Amino acid sequence: MVVGMKDQIRSYTYDEIRKYIEDIGEKGFRAGQLFEWVQAKRVSDFSEMTNLSVALRNRLDEDFLLDPLQIRRVQRASDGSTVKYLFGLSDGDAIESVWMRYRHGDSICVSSQAGCRMGCSFCASTMKGLNRSLTPAEMLSQVYDIEREIYDYGAYEEAFPGKSRDFNRDRVSSIIVMGMGEPFDNYDNVIRFIRLLVDEKGRNLSAREVTVSTCGLTDGIYRLMDEELPITLAISLHAPNDEIRSRIMPVAKAHPMDEIFEACKEYFHKTGRRITFEYSLMSGINDGDAHASELSEKMRALMKTGVRLHINLIPVNAVKGRKVERPDLRVISRFKKILEKNKINATIRREMGSEIDAACGQLRLSGDNP
Ligand code: SAH
Repeated sequence: MVVGMKDQIRSYTYDEIRKYIEDIGEKGFRAGQLFEWVQAKRVSDFSEMTNLSVALRNRLDEDFLLDPLQIRRVQRASDGSTVKYLFGLSDGDAIESVWMRYRHGDSICVSSQAGCRMGCSFCASTMKGLNRSLTPAEMLSQVYDIEREIYDYGAYEEAFPGKSRDFNRDRVSSIIVMGMGEPFDNYDNVIRFIRLLVDEKGRNLSAREVTVSTCGLTDGIYRLMDEELPITLAISLHAPNDEIRSRIMPVAKAHPMDEIFEACKEYFHKTGRRITFEYSLMSGINDGDAHASELSEKMRALMKTGVRLHINLIPVNAVKGRKVERPDLRVISRFKKILEKNKINATIRREMGSEIDAACGQLRLSGDNP
């Protein structure tokens, strides 16, 4: 709960809702109905909960906030591949989320904090530091509000007539916690968010469709491996050694690569889940042949211990006020070839939404919010 604000019911587990329902003297089965409205039916107002009595709806409205977000701005890429949302929070700040259409299904990139304190030199989210961590309800509402806008209200069909015909979906199939913020700097809320998202009585997403990306906070990696949540762990590496890494990611000084690899090894052996390493290619910083070879060596060493892994190459997104440039496509494919020669799985992330400032945190900085 955020001090000074009404309790956010979307952060409540089924058991907590049940306890509340019993405490106010309602029948037990109301808990299931209420949980379903809050999590699965993605309504934004208690008045929409038509199978509950008016008295109960009024009581809920007094006690709780249902949807803590407001859509403040929507930007749609002209090819329909990406839609970016700026959400206002109840305390006046704003966060960003991105919806993306892939051939195999739609995906949402969720923010875990308003701002970030990790200080990566190429990232927009961290430029004004951390304001606060998001509640589970604020993370869930990013997903539900976007699904409502796109699939229930037909906003996508309206913007791109005919484009929806080749699919028949009413919700996204994967969630990536790769928006603003460091998820392991908000560990408990992020785990609660995921548990609510995969709850069979609620939104019922498969845990396998969830990815959490960290800059390398190893405590979080150790905690996650004991949660029994078969999600995908992604590590933002972005460099082949600690020297380069600590120049662009201050967190590298506290968590050197060897420590991260050790945690990854344990993570893999405990969960059996393939690990993703993210590597943003920045011209003149980490994109040379020697960097690719050094990265290959590190990855080979990890693979020798039995770890299955995959490298996601991301052409860096230019950010205003940040001196990073994207390498030529030729340099990027050369980097990938060196990894492949060393038998390392690598893909180049499809470029999405850069025309609408999809690089994390840029919309929030763009000036039309406090
Ligand atoms: N804090 C988490 C998740 C948020 S960022 C983490 O560090 O993993 C999601 C990914 O986008 C990270 O790999 C991050 O390093 C990368 N990223 C941030 N700014 C970027 C930019 N300008 N261009 C390309 N990737 C960027």
